[in-house]
Amino acid sequence: MLAQVLPFDIVQKILCMAVPHTNSPDVMIWTTSTCGGFSLSSTFQELRDVKTSSFTPKQFWHSQVPLKLSFFMLLLLRRRLLLDDVLSRFMPHLPSKCFCCLESQSKTLQHLFMEGELAVAVWNFFGSLCGVNIARGHLRVYLACWWYKPTKLERLKFVFRLLPIFVCWNLWKARNIAVFQGIAKDAHSIFRAIFPRFKGCLLAKVWRVAACYGIASIFGNG
Ligand SMILES: [Zn+2]
Repeated sequence: MLAQVLPFDIVQKILCMAVPHTNSPDVMIWTTSTCGGFSLSSTFQELRDVKTSSFTPKQFWHSQVPLKLSFFMLLLLRRRLLLDDVLSRFMPHLPSKCFCCLESQSKTLQHLFMEGELAVAVWNFFGSLCGVNIARGHLRVYLACWWYKPTKLERLKFVFRLLPIFVCWNLWKARNIAVFQGIAKDAHSIFRAIFPRFKGCLLAKVWRVAACYGIASIFGNG
């Protein structure tokens, strides 16, 4: 009878099992749950393709991060933004001039988000404000400096998680405005775009630092 519904090898395994000698009635056991009862959640955990979680994606796939920015960070860190170094894999090199430096530089991902004059100015400011020194390394390494920065305060964790994402997003927006509208944004316009989102956490400290850096004017038209 078993052979009518089960493969031969399974039938053989069943026939090899010793029959338990108890007086209790037979009970079906769902082995994937701890209590032995069936549940959809234990079935889903059994069927889904489980992979080890990585620290970096956790930082931008987070409920505190707007979904639009999560997708943007995914494209950025997977090198899917259409910049010269990405496009050069599919076509010959194009004439290139970045929008962010006085001297023309190639529009690479590393230049736009890390090494260009605009990127350096913005990272220097927010880095000095939050105690994250700019590193002349890769963008991914510098982002990790923000995300790994130890703190026990929840509001600072919020700042260290979101601030570098907002910086990258606004550098990308500045690049697109320069390319498609011909308008060059400066570092102050990026400060003004970012500050309202972190006003509650940073404002008190900003005013103290602003006196040192002479940047009080950035709030003038904000
Ligand atoms: Zn540049």
